[in-house]
Amino acid sequence: MNISERISKRVQGIPRSGIRDFFELVQGRDDVISLGVGEPDFCAPWHIREAAIYSLEKGETSYTSNLGLMNLRKSIAGYVEKHFHTQYDPAREILVTVGVSEALDIAFRALLNPGDEVIYHEPCYVSYNPSIYLAYGQAVAIQTKVEDNFSLRAADVEAAITPKSRVLMLNFPTNPTGAIQPADEMEKIAALCVKHDLIVITDEIYSELLYDRAEHTSILAFPGIRERTILMHGFSKAFAMTGFRLGYACAPPELTEAMMKIHQYAMLCAPMTSQVAAIEALENGAPEVERMRKAYERRRNILLSRMDAMGLPCFKPGGAFYAFPDIREFGLTSKQFAMQLLEEEDVAAVPGDAFGKAGEGFLRCCYATDETQLSTALDRIADFVGRLRSR
Ligand code: PLP
Repeated sequence: MNISERISKRVQGIPRSGIRDFFELVQGRDDVISLGVGEPDFCAPWHIREAAIYSLEKGETSYTSNLGLMNLRKSIAGYVEKHFHTQYDPAREILVTVGVSEALDIAFRALLNPGDEVIYHEPCYVSYNPSIYLAYGQAVAIQTKVEDNFSLRAADVEAAITPKSRVLMLNFPTNPTGAIQPADEMEKIAALCVKHDLIVITDEIYSELLYDRAEHTSILAFPGIRERTILMHGFSKAFAMTGFRLGYACAPPELTEAMMKIHQYAMLCAPMTSQVAAIEALENGAPEVERMRKAYERRRNILLSRMDAMGLPCFKPGGAFYAFPDIREFGLTSKQFAMQLLEEEDVAAVPGDAFGKAGEGFLRCCYATDETQLSTALDRIADFVGRLRSR
């Protein structure tokens, strides 16, 4: 039997993540400095780990409600009200998930019929396109541009809308560019969603990580949006809890119920220990989040000034922990550039095309890396760029 032929056509039809492919090359090479993986270099704060340990000591090792622990849902409701000025009912409008990753998967599966179109902006997080495809949807990518600071223009959204459009997917601050969206443009997009009756999925996993005192304006701030929107958020980034695998979706009861139907069969519930830790994170984690945010801001500033000094154009990211320098002057594809940088200088960064067509000609550098390592990586990038220019 040829086992490969027995894999579903749909799964055969999706590529492996470009990030993963690239990082398999780096595995086991201690000499490489990685600016690659989109993950905080900080460990989850101690008080959060302690809450998890204590929960295990108490023997809290069972399943929880499918929706998640009620106390966690109440904490989420409080946190979201404070940060997004939007109220959700913990009993019917909040679903605790295994990361935003799971929330994305079940949201698309809950919403899409075959051929339904999902409009989203590229460059973007690697899972959007395959998750839409696996849910039998049609992915419609809008290419954002460095000239627009990688923000999403309402005119481009309007041009992408067809009678088959069902969902608009947003992610600000954006992985991989660090872009934040201007409020006036977001307001116009919100009006389009209402006018064309679109459901909105907004992945705001980086909303705490903002720099230069920037304000984050969620699409939820605008009239007519809350009732058509799934807000996704999680603990991986701001709380440095990637390995806890915890996120949540807030949405009107019908949407929450639909996602819960898939979640209960696919996942049953999110892990109890992580849920207990997450309550501690939401209730008492703000000072640690701020400490890490300040460290990222400092590193971002170092990175930007070093790239400026080496004459590498780099869009100034307003949030998240990624920089997206422009490498088009070298006449290499982003993959060639990243491969040569890895081979010649032992620095790993992700080729921009891993995040969609609009990322070609750019490189994603994650600065959630300690300052000494970051500084050495930048020395090496400067040497590499200097050499490329003199070739
Ligand atoms: N959404 C975005 C924009 C991300 O960058 C990531 C991870 O890099 C995720 C979702 C996945 O997050 P989680 O760890 O909560 O599954």
